[in-house]
Amino acid sequence: MTVVHSETRTSNADSGSPSAAAPSTPRLVAALIGRPGRTQTVFVPCPEFCSEPHGEEPEVAVEDITHYSDIVFMQVPTLLSEDTAHSELYCRVTSDPVSPDPRMRAAHVLYGDGNGVDAYLTPDMADELADDLVAFAAEVRGMARVARSANEADAG
Ligand SMILES: [Zn+2]
Repeated sequence: MTVVHSETRTSNADSGSPSAAAPSTPRLVAALIGRPGRTQTVFVPCPEFCSEPHGEEPEVAVEDITHYSDIVFMQVPTLLSEDTAHSELYCRVTSDPVSPDPRMRAAHVLYGDGNGVDAYLTPDMADELADDLVAFAAEVRGMARVARSANEADAG
């Protein structure tokens, strides 16, 4: 398994936000709003964790803007296919400022596996998941030892 921290998105951190010196005040970033050929730049509050290039990819309306951090993802290989991962897991911090659900308006952790429906975790839920993943990883490492020993016993 390989864990990759994506660095492909450009951060908005140096976008010249007038609130950059006051972290408790939401920074304002440029966002491109409108339909192709009919866009304009507006300034929207954007949380510090967000690395979305709001000023590059247009949204039709301001309420379509969602904030996302960089993504961390992990692919699960299979020995039956060296070219294709069996599955993937990914996480990022996100918030939807106009969601009717206050839990979705707050910063939370998105967890997905590429199967269409993502999971949304409060920070406490994400901590619990992280604990479970650490325990799971220890079990996987133990199984690798068992398999390696079995193969060495067969070979010897
Ligand atoms: Zn943002």
